[in-house]
Amino acid sequence: FLLFIGSGGILLLIPISYFLAGKSLQPIKETFENQKKFIADASHELRTPLTVIQTNVEVLKLKEDEVLKDNIRWLNNISLESETMAHLVSELLLIAQADNKKVIMKKEVFDLSALCAEIIDLMFDVARENEIALKGSIAEGIDYKGDEERIKQAIRILVDNAIKYTPGEGTVTLSLTMTKRNVCIAVKDTGVGLTEEAKKKIFSRFYRVDDARNREKGGVGLGLSIADMIVKQHNGKIKIDSVPDQGSTFTIVLPKTILK
Ligand code: ADP
Repeated sequence: FLLFIGSGGILLLIPISYFLAGKSLQPIKETFENQKKFIADASHELRTPLTVIQTNVEVLKLKEDEVLKDNIRWLNNISLESETMAHLVSELLLIAQADNKKVIMKKEVFDLSALCAEIIDLMFDVARENEIALKGSIAEGIDYKGDEERIKQAIRILVDNAIKYTPGEGTVTLSLTMTKRNVCIAVKDTGVGLTEEAKKKIFSRFYRVDDARNREKGGVGLGLSIADMIVKQHNGKIKIDSVPDQGSTFTIVLPKTILK
């Protein structure tokens, strides 16, 4: 801001940007445009399951004199779609909170080795249903100070993706190692892999490499942007090594924390 005393002695506050060329407003414009695009994309994603819910409710209404047992199929559709929506809405909320710097990460010591083992247990059946062997290579006794629930969410996103984007008879390996400065949680798959182009965009919101194929897999392209946000809030980063048609390794690198 610049300060001015006007002719009538009135104090004027003039934003500095007023004096600068249009070019300097570009980042503000871009942010505004991104924000608008985000809201548009988000409402689009929310509308689709809503339409399905509404159609199913209409069907139920028309069949009001039939026994409920016969209509269980419609009710199941409703509950599945509502679940999808609830999940999506909570992801959107988390992103919106992160944008407004309102996400508070806990700082508590927890057993990261046990957490990784728990994730393997949790995801084992899903992997098997998809004909994927889920393996673990976990260093024992690694404690970490951070937000356990959020770190769990980030690792689950990577394992979930590895399973989704690996064809049957593939392998997904979750490993935990420690170096001098960092703890590394790597999720390696033998799946479809990523091009250099895709790697650059992969953390963007709503980005999907192949829209049609990925919609079948149930993703909306928010998972990695959430994982990235969580890891960044812990001062870490996610590294990607990937070769198309050969597989990918996503590694969460977290700086060692002081356990006090
Ligand atoms: P989605 O919910 O669609 O999985 P993500 O943000 O988690 O969204 O991932 C973005 C896109 O990155 C995915 O749609 C997929 O195309 C690609 N992707 C993510 N993980 C992998 C992986 N392990 N192997 C290949 N492609 C992946």
